[in-house]
Amino acid sequence: MRVRYLVVSDIHSNLVAFEAVLNDASPFEAVWCLGDVVGYGPQPNECIERLRALPFQCVAGNHDWASISKLDTSDFNPDAVQAALWTRDQLTRDNWKFIQELPEKLVEGDFTLVHGSPRHPIWEYITHPGVAAQNFSCFDTAYCFFGHTHEPAVYLSLNEQDSEREELPELVQRTTIHLDRHRWLINPGGVGQPRDRDPRASYMLLDPQARTLEYRRVEYPVEETQRLMRAAGLPPRLVERLEYGW
Ligand code: ZN
Repeated sequence: MRVRYLVVSDIHSNLVAFEAVLNDASPFEAVWCLGDVVGYGPQPNECIERLRALPFQCVAGNHDWASISKLDTSDFNPDAVQAALWTRDQLTRDNWKFIQELPEKLVEGDFTLVHGSPRHPIWEYITHPGVAAQNFSCFDTAYCFFGHTHEPAVYLSLNEQDSEREELPELVQRTTIHLDRHRWLINPGGVGQPRDRDPRASYMLLDPQARTLEYRRVEYPVEETQRLMRAAGLPPRLVERLEYGW
């Protein structure tokens, strides 16, 4: 059988969404997680433990670090700060240690894994081809997966001088992307709090042998996560945005 890797980012303590992705993506060899396992959502420990129960690789995100006070939250909005403080109070000692030990960058074969960008793994947002262009010289592998923006995106470098970049046309559900001779920066979108106006959880499946990526969206019961967030007393704005995919 073909070996496939499940590539996810920004689970954000949304276990209901994460479970939907795991079901939809199955079977797969291992999960590659691009950080922000926690923050915003209602089930931080459960998400970490679900991930740890699988074969996985995972890098640290800004919300992961914020939840263990490894990162200053002065740049966070008040809702995000409140959620980070709530998360900090929930984390078990074991899960705290798990986050503490997450690396900022990982290399798996031809693929580099980071949360924000290869240049600034924790903080930088790759939101357009200009920023992507500057980042191609910051990793050594052919391909790099990143997250952080909660929006699926693919950037490719067209030549060795890194002088031309192109953003692929809008991704369509179940698009198969062929990783050709170019170098690529790839964002699978967000699992637990998508921000591209589509509330469905976003992820990709990588077939390293065929060098193909499949982009997928999956529905999950958003209202179930919202119910848990309200019960936990998390900020209403964070609860509401899930149904708008923003
Ligand atoms: Zn995030």
